[in-house]
Amino acid sequence: MTDASPVRATTPRQVRPATEGWSQKKDTEGRPLLQFASPKRGKPPVHLADLTPEQRVEKVKELGLPGFRAAQLEKHYFTHYTSDPALMTDLPAVSREELVAGMLPQLLTEVRTLKTDRGDTIKFLWKLHDGALVESVLMRYPGRITLCVSSQAGCGMNCPFCATGQAGLTRNMSAAEIVEQIVRANRIIRDGGLGPAEHPDERVTNIVFMGMGEPLANYARVMQAIRVMTDQKHGLGMSARGITVSTVGLVPAIRKLAEEDIPVTFALSLHAPDDHLRDELIPVNSRWKVDEALDAARNYFEKTGRRVSIEYALIKDMNDHGWRADLLAEKLNARGRGWVHVNPIPLNPTPGSIWTASETAVQREFVRRLNDAGIPTTLRDTRGKEIDGACGQLVATAEDEAQAADTPLGSDHS
Ligand code: SF4
Repeated sequence: MTDASPVRATTPRQVRPATEGWSQKKDTEGRPLLQFASPKRGKPPVHLADLTPEQRVEKVKELGLPGFRAAQLEKHYFTHYTSDPALMTDLPAVSREELVAGMLPQLLTEVRTLKTDRGDTIKFLWKLHDGALVESVLMRYPGRITLCVSSQAGCGMNCPFCATGQAGLTRNMSAAEIVEQIVRANRIIRDGGLGPAEHPDERVTNIVFMGMGEPLANYARVMQAIRVMTDQKHGLGMSARGITVSTVGLVPAIRKLAEEDIPVTFALSLHAPDDHLRDELIPVNSRWKVDEALDAARNYFEKTGRRVSIEYALIKDMNDHGWRADLLAEKLNARGRGWVHVNPIPLNPTPGSIWTASETAVQREFVRRLNDAGIPTTLRDTRGKEIDGACGQLVATAEDEAQAADTPLGSDHS
């Protein structure tokens, strides 16, 4: 295929992960290595947010208290963002400690936080009960506050450009460990940690599952977490529209998600419109091809009426060619109009990575071609870059590990 773009004419290179020194890890059958099953590790303690409202009442009764205490605990946790028994003066003093220990065990210990100079972005490093490390990133924008959450410790999808993927999957996170990231962020916002509030009841309004992990590989727990986030009476009462579930393309799980009665925003991390490149760039493409993933994304739109996002990390000379923008537009238009928009985002190079972001003129050209073909396309910013908090950069460093080892579990209890 020829490319008439003046930008591409000067840089006709095509690099691929394999030619840049990356070799794909293979399983015993010679297929790209993908870890779908969580390695067996000790399970985190069961927490109120892991349970349905009915199960919470049952558990409180098992602890020897009347069932209505469950609602009081829900209020403390989801409305006041506390799991400190000393602050729960409406609970009987004699049984308070035991009740809170049984229902609201501490799941995350803060190891470190990094804040941008402007104070509008904070990256958290959390230690889980078994020492596994995960991160979340809190970002303030005008009129909204977004939290990028982790759904797994590590990730088994092995994407070559992603720091998390290169470290492998440690384990799935529990629903409550996912929810706790939001509760802790809300507590920090309330206490002024994200700068002056725009209004008194400010809290996280948007969730993106773009931290560590492939959320659809941890389906049941992620869905339970989303139910808790959106439950108006027994949970955080967030809007489903503000929650974005992002996947590299686990097709059966995308189809299952479309059948759930929770219209979250769905994002497909495509990164290449052709199998030739995507097989290398996103190893899960060896199981489900580009067309299958796009069909599942289109099906999500049909079932939910929610417009789908296509995420596309622009990597210099790898996937940013004009003809790839044209091919992407062609494939999206072949599936109808008005059902999708594309978010290209310049790649955030990970430390030591051989790949880098596309040049600005190339980024513009890529966006222009898609828009001209009738596909709404918006170049996204790379907020969090200065603290390594952007997508694909969430991985614990040796320094993080050392600090985590010195942080006793529960040392930040509140
Ligand atoms: S890009 Fe996403 S799915 Fe791929 S390895 Fe990284 S965290 Fe996992």
